[in-house]
Amino acid sequence: MIQLGVHGVTKAFGKTHVLRGIDLTVERGQIAALLGPSGCGKTTLLRIIAGFESPDAGTVTLAGREVVAEPPERRRVGIVPQEGALFPHRTVAGNVGFGLPRAGRADRVAAMLALVGLDGFQDRMPAELSGGQRQRVALARALAPEPELVLLDEPFNALDRALRGSVRDDVRDALQRVGATAVLVTHDQEEALSVADVVAVMRDGRIPQAGPPLEVYESPVDLEVAAFVGETVVLDAEIDDGMVTCPLGRLPARAVRDTGARSGRVALRPEQIVLDGDGAALSGRVERVEYFGHDAVVTVAVEDLSTRIRSRSYGHVRHRPGDRVGITVTGEPLFYPSER
Ligand code: ATP
Repeated sequence: MIQLGVHGVTKAFGKTHVLRGIDLTVERGQIAALLGPSGCGKTTLLRIIAGFESPDAGTVTLAGREVVAEPPERRRVGIVPQEGALFPHRTVAGNVGFGLPRAGRADRVAAMLALVGLDGFQDRMPAELSGGQRQRVALARALAPEPELVLLDEPFNALDRALRGSVRDDVRDALQRVGATAVLVTHDQEEALSVADVVAVMRDGRIPQAGPPLEVYESPVDLEVAAFVGETVVLDAEIDDGMVTCPLGRLPARAVRDTGARSGRVALRPEQIVLDGDGAALSGRVERVEYFGHDAVVTVAVEDLSTRIRSRSYGHVRHRPGDRVGITVTGEPLFYPSER
């Protein structure tokens, strides 16, 4: 069942066209991530869904009900803003219970705090909480009135990297446990891919692709989406009979669409590039090794090729700058034909 439906939404501020025809559907109980670079219109779309802004055209439905004419307080949308924005002079219980009916309020507050792992924090003041705890209280406050939809606007931005991962997991678990439908705004692809059931990539006021994380990562509709959801190695290529010829050799490829053009480009993920595998058609020299702990990325320069080839590997990295390495490909590159 569709819980949130956004259809044909446009919005301009003066001459700036911020949203140019947005379509987005989120099923009940799903978490959708709106992933896009700064300024692409994510917050504007969130504000239209919440009712703080009206679209110039288009419709927004919540649980099947058209809400564009409804004021924010009638929409039953819970919001987790950037940096939590708790009421500083209210206790945690005062924040979470704000606006709830008196009858049953204390029980509801206790249940919500238990849900976000903050049992017994009722009497603390916001200033006595860590950043991660504040975000969890903000989520408890958003969920307390049983909203039809929860909107989270870059909720993990203020947290340091180590904390982000764990707070993110806690928030996702809490949302899933109560079966909430949520839209999370983020510019962080790792966050979108790891948290969401549906990733909607936003660019220039449009959503060129929305789908499950795996689909968006493995079958991006164009090279820009490919580059936005992860790293890519892009090379000129010619296709015939399902095989591409590119600087990495002749490879079986998947054509993303058919424009009739035989020339175009292939896109590979660095984890598809294997160094010193069997049967390398090409070799190059290691320029740089970036070690991240769980994995490493090796940048290889190939003679007569302006593009650097980047290879991601897991486990022990034995390559050093200056080493000569063979380059092979695993899996199928994606082929994007030129427009005709
Ligand atoms: P960020 O990730 O940086 O928050 P965003 O994707 O959320 O960016 P928006 O905040 O929706 O982007 O803004 C999109 C564009 O609309 C920006 O160019 C912004 O300057 C413009 N904009 C937003 N609100 C208004 C407004 N009330 N009046 C005029 N321009 C606005």
